[in-house]
Amino acid sequence: MKRFVIGIDVGGTKTACALVDENRVLYGGHSIPSNPELENERFFDVIVEEVKTLLAGQGFDASGRRPAGTRAANGQARLEAAEIAGAGVGMPSFIYYDKGHIIKTSNLVKIRDFPARDYLSEKLRLQVTLDNDARAAALAEYRHGAGKGFHNMLYCPVSSGISSAILIGGKLFRGSYGWAGETGHMIATPGEGVECGCGNRGCYMSWCSGLMIIKHIRQWIDSGEKTIMTELAGGKEKIDSIILEKAHDAGDRMAVKAFNQMTNWLGIWFYNLYVSLNINCFVLGGGLVKMGEKLLDPVRRTFDIYNHDDFPVYFKTAACGKNCGTLGAAELAWESCAENAM
Ligand SMILES: [Zn+2]
Repeated sequence: MKRFVIGIDVGGTKTACALVDENRVLYGGHSIPSNPELENERFFDVIVEEVKTLLAGQGFDASGRRPAGTRAANGQARLEAAEIAGAGVGMPSFIYYDKGHIIKTSNLVKIRDFPARDYLSEKLRLQVTLDNDARAAALAEYRHGAGKGFHNMLYCPVSSGISSAILIGGKLFRGSYGWAGETGHMIATPGEGVECGCGNRGCYMSWCSGLMIIKHIRQWIDSGEKTIMTELAGGKEKIDSIILEKAHDAGDRMAVKAFNQMTNWLGIWFYNLYVSLNINCFVLGGGLVKMGEKLLDPVRRTFDIYNHDDFPVYFKTAACGKNCGTLGAAELAWESCAENAM
């Protein structure tokens, strides 16, 4: 019998889900907007309905089975019988992994202190594996993307926030309570700088994440510094990383200063991760990585200022593409299936 898992990638703006088979082929993938106004149960009820629609569209009944000979709603013949082996969920949250409990979610603030794994498991009548989205993506990149062959690897999303998922010996390292790798919140300049969602000033993220660098820019504008970004964006509140990149390319002084601050702190952060863990493969994901060499080259140069050894260190960009989150969430489920089979 052919087996599938459901991969559910919950993001701050959209939630995607798909069926994934044992060859990691995705079926019926689609996404819905994530509603930040919904609290715990209501938020996950929407996801449950979405998953039911996904399953029905692929010819599965309510018990997650598809008898041989049925067809998916999209007309594709699905001749073999099939069953759903489980579901994996990647969340942009602090998660107490062993308990399947969401502690807090920085960009979906109403989702907090909630036993999401058991709630979903009961509603979907499936085994559910719940983890942080960076760790889900790390598994996808390790098994199918830029981290292939690197059994020690760090997956670092560089986006509105920054973090790292730690893979050691081909296994995710989660730590005592499940949120190992929240290294963006390590303190770089105690008490100095803008305040981060973690409650502190001066963590790495507060100096160089996409969201935070924009905060710095707005502060500089408020203190009277000049930039073309206000005009380019149509107001300082509308400045985002795309405007920053445009202004940087045009040689705008403040944009160059912001860019340098970002790449400098990213380089220092990567160096500290390297000396802490001695992991030599960094797979960089997240929206800002789209800037490519423009971002990576100066980051690497800062890293090299502090690194005095010749051992190879690899900085790679994520290779799994737009389905990385869904594929990674599915990998969480496949990993649990494999552990249960042992
Ligand atoms: Zn922080």
